[in-house]
Amino acid sequence: MTTKLFDRVALIGIGLIGSSLARVLRRDCPETTIVACARRAETLAACTRLGIADEVTDDPAAAVKGADLVVIATPLSAYADIAQRIAPALMKGTIVTDVGSCKEAVIRDLAPVVAAGARLVPGHPVAGTEHSGPEAGFAEMFEERWCILTPAADADPDAVAKVTRLWELARMRVTTMQPEHHDRVLAVTSHLPHLIAYTIVGTATALGDDLKSEVIAFSAGGFRDFTRIAASDPVMWRDIFIKNREAVLDILQRFSEDLTALQRAIRYGEADTLEKKFTETRAVRRSVIEAKQA
Ligand code: NAP
Repeated sequence: MTTKLFDRVALIGIGLIGSSLARVLRRDCPETTIVACARRAETLAACTRLGIADEVTDDPAAAVKGADLVVIATPLSAYADIAQRIAPALMKGTIVTDVGSCKEAVIRDLAPVVAAGARLVPGHPVAGTEHSGPEAGFAEMFEERWCILTPAADADPDAVAKVTRLWELARMRVTTMQPEHHDRVLAVTSHLPHLIAYTIVGTATALGDDLKSEVIAFSAGGFRDFTRIAASDPVMWRDIFIKNREAVLDILQRFSEDLTALQRAIRYGEADTLEKKFTETRAVRRSVIEAKQA
């Protein structure tokens, strides 16, 4: 069954997330016109080659002309400039959403589109891989994952319902949260784990050459899983840590205290403390599997 939620959708940024959403629209809303916007000609050529856009442009203002939905799916550092550029070109009442990994800063950066009369429904599909670009996308990426929307208290209910429906088409479970709550939750579940992975892989890389080759050879001992996370896009993650600074620093402080407690338990041979902690964390893994998020 096909759906026509929107007539014309402008995707500003058409990498892993934008192109995956384009594939969902192609699959479920074949009558919707998709306009893709990126900076580089090769990215736009890939969209045409992959058949995931009807029109392509490197001009965000041109992309949003006549669109009833605009989805911003660029790295977070581009948002403020894009908002300035698209605001004058938006139709009144256009729904603007995004996919950014943190929300408070994004909402500040998107203020010009609200001032221009657009209906803003910020969003974050909590799904992805360590790959980037339009070739890396696939429609199934979102399935069974959560999408968190962070609309303002006075957001238009019809706009929220339509964006909810969009992510439901992608087979996501959709929930709403306050932006600052989202940013704290994601600081724990996503941002801190990435920071730890970047640190561990960096530490191993800084070791002597002999040891480094052994680190790679014996990586199946646990290191391998960190290297996958630490292969995530450097620009995207640079922006997340800059934009979600307060929440990340707060959670990092808590993490450092807990790490110090474990360090102490190891130093003083407190076997019971270690076993109790590891038993608790094993139970968390079981909960993640039961929630189908493994
Ligand atoms: P990506 O694969 O690197 O794609 C980024 C896209 O944005 C590319 O099409 C790029 O075009 C375009 N772009 C970059 N700077 C731009 C600018 N100044 N103006 C216009 N277009 C610009 O990134 P992604 O992984 O899809 O991530 C996009 C957003 O999704 C980020 O905000 C991230 O926080 C969020 N997110 C990511 C994941 C994940 O796992 N990757 C998960 C959830 C949410 P060019 O190729 O021309 O540079």
